[in-house]
Amino acid sequence: MPRYQRIMLAVDLTEESNIVAETAANLAKAFDAELHIVHVIEPISLAYGGDMPMDLSTVQEQIQEQAKTHLALFANRLGISQGRQHLIFGRPESEIHQVAEKQNADVIVVGSHGKHGLALLLGSTANGVLHGANRDVLAVRVGELTDT
Ligand code: AMP
Repeated sequence: MPRYQRIMLAVDLTEESNIVAETAANLAKAFDAELHIVHVIEPISLAYGGDMPMDLSTVQEQIQEQAKTHLALFANRLGISQGRQHLIFGRPESEIHQVAEKQNADVIVVGSHGKHGLALLLGSTANGVLHGANRDVLAVRVGELTDT
């Protein structure tokens, strides 16, 4: 097994992030590695196709503020210092790759729903991160779909 020195934990800040974080924290402890955390805010315009008839900048700002607070709380619980907390705008898959590259992480830890059938074809963030990754990706199972 490789000796990981820098671990990039990707969280969507849902309840499931706790399970993913626990694994990443244990991994970091086992390897005495640096633990980083990233949360990507998807701009509303990107999520809804960019053709919005109203100005959503205030909503976007509120989302950003909430995400910032939530990420800081989450990271503090894990003992991750501010310099290792990354809050980024964009598409989760590509931004996770970029921050992992920038921080020189050896492994990215994401949650996976163990999707299959149609859900697998449609893809998920975990699949997106795995595709084209030039470092290890650890997909932590966070629950399964039974009917897709
Ligand atoms: P999903 O398949 O989109 O439900 O997400 C699975 C996993 O991808 C999550 O458990 C996180 O590890 C990661 N992920 C999803 N969305 C984000 C996000 N906005 N920022 C960072 N990581 C994310």
